Amino acid sequence: MKTVLLIDEDAGFRELMSKWLTVGGWSVLEANDGEDGIQLTVEHQPDAVICDLLMPRCNGFQVCRSIREQGGNIQQPKIIVTTGSGYATDQQNAMEVGADEYLIKPFRADELIRILERRPARQIAVSAAPPLPPKAHAILPADQPPRLKFWGVRGSIPTPGPGTVQYGGNTSCVEVRADGEIIILDAGSGIRRLGLSLAQEFKDQPIDLTLLITHTHWDHIQGFPFFVPAYNPENKLRILGYEGARNGLYSTLTYQMESPYFPVSLQHMPGNIDVTELKELEFSVGKVRVKAAFVNHPGVCVGYRLFSSAGSIAYLPDNEPFQRMRSHPGGQETSDRLEALKYASDQDQKIIEFLKDADVLIIDSQYDDAEYQSHVGWGHGCVEDVVALALFAKVRQLFLFHHDPDHDDAQISKMLGWARQLVAMQGESLAVDAAREGLEYVLQTLSAKP
Ligand SMILES: [Zn+2]
Ligand SMILES: [Zn+2]
Repeated sequence: MKTVLLIDEDAGFRELMSKWLTVGGWSVLEANDGEDGIQLTVEHQPDAVICDLLMPRCNGFQVCRSIREQGGNIQQPKIIVTTGSGYATDQQNAMEVGADEYLIKPFRADELIRILERRPARQIAVSAAPPLPPKAHAILPADQPPRLKFWGVRGSIPTPGPGTVQYGGNTSCVEVRADGEIIILDAGSGIRRLGLSLAQEFKDQPIDLTLLITHTHWDHIQGFPFFVPAYNPENKLRILGYEGARNGLYSTLTYQMESPYFPVSLQHMPGNIDVTELKELEFSVGKVRVKAAFVNHPGVCVGYRLFSSAGSIAYLPDNEPFQRMRSHPGGQETSDRLEALKYASDQDQKIIEFLKDADVLIIDSQYDDAEYQSHVGWGHGCVEDVVALALFAKVRQLFLFHHDPDHDDAQISKMLGWARQLVAMQGESLAVDAAREGLEYVLQTLSAKP
């Protein structure tokens, strides 16, 4: 006689199942919680285990994992996970940790017996439906001049509310369309609305997208799980970035979507998603040449410069100029101060070279000078330094970016006014704007429009 172990906190339902299974010719064992269930599995090595998902002292996922971890030490039973709710993500997670079947309560005796006695689902051969002919991917009109659009401009954390309606409260995300490519810079919360807009624009026509990640701090990746085009199996999405300080790019993007943080894992997103960790600092996205540079920010963080047919866009959403950090009274107290300053100046010079003659510079301007004094070493810039950097590099259009979550619209406008004043005081012609959600900038015409 075959043996089945029932692990369920609900004594009434256990009794009911026990009756059905006894009638069906099974020898039945019972456990009231997960820990007892695992123990009985090891001791009695039943042919099948029917285990509820939510139980005290070890839930159903843990029971599955624990039984499967025993490997060949015990006779591996068929495991049926039962649950009162039918979330697809719970089912996926249960199957991933070793369940063979998944049954939603309430179910009938005949359903239970049928599932118990059939071969495990994972061994049943499923004949695949004939593939549909592929649809042609959307091709952007070649005559459109390169352009960018801001979808998220805020640093650190999304800040919705009446104080941020003018510039916007979403975290970093910029869309660039150039030379037939759609390139997305970072996946902060702003990417959610970009995704909705792309879905509306291209309807059921498949699209090819490239997402460049500067670094994996939350404000640069947190919107990705809500990016609708990644759920369309006909879309192609290439994600490019550099290895992080502790984990690879793929792992870091995967972790934020793992249960219990999010109901759909990166692996289960239906779009064709390819995550590639870059090894070189120069590469191409179609006809758009891209250069990357490591910047001064905690962990591994880069800035990108995109070279289009109508000029270049530099994007450094998180950066603290080296020299300022080292020259600050609290920054460096050692006797080799001069050497430290020389080093910092060299590093800043490298960034200036990287930005040299850029048509557009989008850069971290989180603080004003007074705030910066108490944020030295935090990895963010201040307006004064950013304007100086843009002038040194002979940039044409500067966008203040990565606005501080504590800054309301009035404060950002004030900082913008001060930045323009600094430029005027130098007698320079650098155009300055504060990035705001919805702002579009067309490279060919060199003009911003609301
Ligand atoms: Zn950031
Ligand atoms: Zn950061």
